[in-house]
Amino acid sequence: MKFREIYELAVQKGIAADLRGEAEIARLLERLRKEYEEMKESEKAEFDQERLHNPFSDTRMLYGDENLEIESVLCGIDMEVGEVLLADRLRDKGQTIDLILAHHPEGKALAALYQVMHLQEDLLAQLGVPINVAEGILSGRIAEVGRNLMPLNHNRAVDVARLLDIPMMCVHTPADNLVTNFLTRLFEEKKPETVREVVKILKELPEYAAAVKLNSGPTIVVGSEKRRPGKIFVDMTGGTGGAKEAYEKMAIAGVGTLVGMHIAEGHRKEAEKYNINVVIAGHIASDSLGMNLFLDEMEQRKVAILPTSGLIRVNRLTKTHKRSDRG
Ligand SMILES: [Zn+2]
Repeated sequence: MKFREIYELAVQKGIAADLRGEAEIARLLERLRKEYEEMKESEKAEFDQERLHNPFSDTRMLYGDENLEIESVLCGIDMEVGEVLLADRLRDKGQTIDLILAHHPEGKALAALYQVMHLQEDLLAQLGVPINVAEGILSGRIAEVGRNLMPLNHNRAVDVARLLDIPMMCVHTPADNLVTNFLTRLFEEKKPETVREVVKILKELPEYAAAVKLNSGPTIVVGSEKRRPGKIFVDMTGGTGGAKEAYEKMAIAGVGTLVGMHIAEGHRKEAEKYNINVVIAGHIASDSLGMNLFLDEMEQRKVAILPTSGLIRVNRLTKTHKRSDRG
C-alpha cells in the first residue's frame, strides 16, 4: 500500500465506525468547507487542508513521501524518540521498516488532540443529555485540555524520524472509534446481566486475556460484581477524558455502567456519587483492540506489521496472536 492509502484507510474506517454516523460527519465536513471558503487569504494559508477530508485532528501523516510504497510497519501504542531509534536499530539489523505507526498522537496531531473532543458532545446527546448541556459541560474541559497540551515539546519524535528519514504517522480517534463501536455492539448482542458478566465478556477477547497476564486486565472500579449493569456506555473515544460534570447528567439520562479505558480519580468519585458502575477495561489492551481492527485490513493488503510499545497484536481475520505472553 502507498503511505497515503494507509492514511486514507484509517480515516475511512474511523468515519465508518463513528457513532455520530457517516451522514453527520459529512455534514460537519461540509460546514467546515463553507467556513474555509469564507476565510481571508491569510487565514486560508494557516488552515490545515487535511481537515476538509479528515474529521480527526489527532490522525495525520507526520513525515515522509505520501507516495512511498509501504510493505512493513513498526507499530506501537506510543512511538516516541526511543521507538523511532528502535526502528533505526532494527533497520541496521536487516529488518525492513518502511513506516512507523503510532496510536497515540505525536507532533501536530498531538497539539490538536483537543479538537476531536467535540465528538463527546454527540455521544452524550445520544445517551439523552440535551446537546446544549453536553456542549456547555465540555467547553471548559476542551479548553483546559488545549492549554495542557501547550507546554509539550510535541514534535520531538517526528524530528528524529525526519533526521533518520523514516516515514511516520499516527492513528488515534479512528482506532478508538473502532474499539468503541466493536464493544458497544458486543454488549448489545450479549446482554450481560451483571457487572461480573461485563468483565467476563471483555476477558473472552484475546487482547484483554493477554492484559490479564500482564496484570492489567479489566477491573471494576465503581460498583460490584453482582450489581446489574443497566444501560452500558462504552466511553473509549473522543480524544481524552471528558468533563467531570458529565456523570451527573449521564445518571439522569439513564446510564448504569460505564466501560472505559482508564478514569481520573475525580471522575471516579463523581461516578460513585451518582451510582454509575465503572468497569476499566484496560488502557493499552483497549488501544490494541482498536488498532488491531484497522491493522487487520493492512495485513490483508500484504503489509507486514511488527508490534511493539505495548501493542498486543491479534489478527481477527487470520486468528493469529503475534505477541507471546510474558512472565
Ligand atoms: Zn490510549
